Amino acid sequence: MAKSFVGGVHPPCRKDRTHALPIERLPVPKTVVIPLSQHTGKVNAPLVAVGDRVLLGQKIGDIDAPIACPVHASVSGRVTAVEMRYHTNGREVLSIVIENDFTDELHPTVQPKNLNDMSAADVLRWLREAGIVGMGGGGFPTHAKLAPPPGGTLDTVLLNGAECEPYLTADHRVMVEWADDVILGLRCLMKAAGVKQGYIGVEVNKTDALTALRQAIAPALDIQIVPLAVKYPQGAEQQLIAACLNRTVPKGKRPVHIGVVVNNVHTAQAIAHSLRTGFPSIERVITVDGACVERPGNFLVRVGTSFADILAVCGLASEPCKLLSGGPMMGMAMHTSAVPVSKCTSGILALSRAESPAGEPMTCVRCAACIDVCPMFIYPTLIAQYGERGRLEEAEKYGALVCHECGACTYACPSHIPLMQWIRRAKSDIYARRERG
Ligand code: SF4
Ligand code: SF4
Repeated sequence: MAKSFVGGVHPPCRKDRTHALPIERLPVPKTVVIPLSQHTGKVNAPLVAVGDRVLLGQKIGDIDAPIACPVHASVSGRVTAVEMRYHTNGREVLSIVIENDFTDELHPTVQPKNLNDMSAADVLRWLREAGIVGMGGGGFPTHAKLAPPPGGTLDTVLLNGAECEPYLTADHRVMVEWADDVILGLRCLMKAAGVKQGYIGVEVNKTDALTALRQAIAPALDIQIVPLAVKYPQGAEQQLIAACLNRTVPKGKRPVHIGVVVNNVHTAQAIAHSLRTGFPSIERVITVDGACVERPGNFLVRVGTSFADILAVCGLASEPCKLLSGGPMMGMAMHTSAVPVSKCTSGILALSRAESPAGEPMTCVRCAACIDVCPMFIYPTLIAQYGERGRLEEAEKYGALVCHECGACTYACPSHIPLMQWIRRAKSDIYARRERG
């Protein structure tokens, strides 16, 4: 029986154009732009300068901070600029531009590892050095996520294979085609966390992924596959934990506070790939779709490849009404295609007008639909309205900081009020006010 959570919405899945297409490697571009921040936490400092030759897999940015993760060259070549460039987060970020020499000359640090030879501490150190971050969109450095809270312990690693965002099917293909790697990556995470139990939650519309994962699990491993109902946001951490483990993360706490670490299935696969080959995190699978895309699919691309280069290969049948990084529920609208794929980019959507209806916001009719669907059991309408009026104490009191920005409330609102966007702004104002003291 498929498990689920309370609340949520059922947007059209729109995965039919890509879910059955095998992963295809795209040509490596002439130029890559590597943002020095591809994670939650401190921005890295550059370790190279203009004119330097860099090798494939070489560490080119790092910083000594508890929440940070280095970045690596995804091609070999010459550094032509270290400058501010647009990032998929909507801001400009210091980035390293590399002109590809197409030799793919390897850096000597690219060496395979054997999980059996590594202690838990070794695995944690190596995860950091390999630049592994959450590839589901969050970008939290994986080694930092595995640290239990002071005085606490971890007991479970849970992989997110829900991929509940409409259109996106990259994780689906990763599970189908690289199931062995997903399981090896999960074993690696379990070793680093010192836990014996592993779970993978997968929505039931991915039957081939459920089968592939079950076949990849050796009988001696304590790993369970949990079929999940198709519902949004099934892949959000709290909702995944509720569905798979029947446990609740208290408001204002993180999963580690109840002994659970959640990672994405693509992150687990990237860990296994890095173990087997020695390559740090320099490539990922993305879904390219939307009615304006001539050749949709799931593509393995080097980090730093621009959206423009990818769309040139996939072809645009018409000018998109909206260009998104990520899915339509939580993704970010891009004003340019001159942005690079980062470790956290799950997809590129070039949507037509019909796919992105934008009704003008109207007055709240107090229908409570937003409250009914909110999986965090807060009051989206109150928080959004208080936030818009600058009444941040009230916005916080009603749960602004508990909101994980899933967008279910915006989707459900019959008055087209951009609730999630207003709440996101209120959260940012609350944090900014705290920083100012
Ligand atoms: S208030 Fe936040 S958590 Fe609740 S539905 Fe809206 S975006 Fe999701
Ligand atoms: S769903 Fe929209 S109209 Fe209904 S209560 Fe919430 S904000 Fe108001």
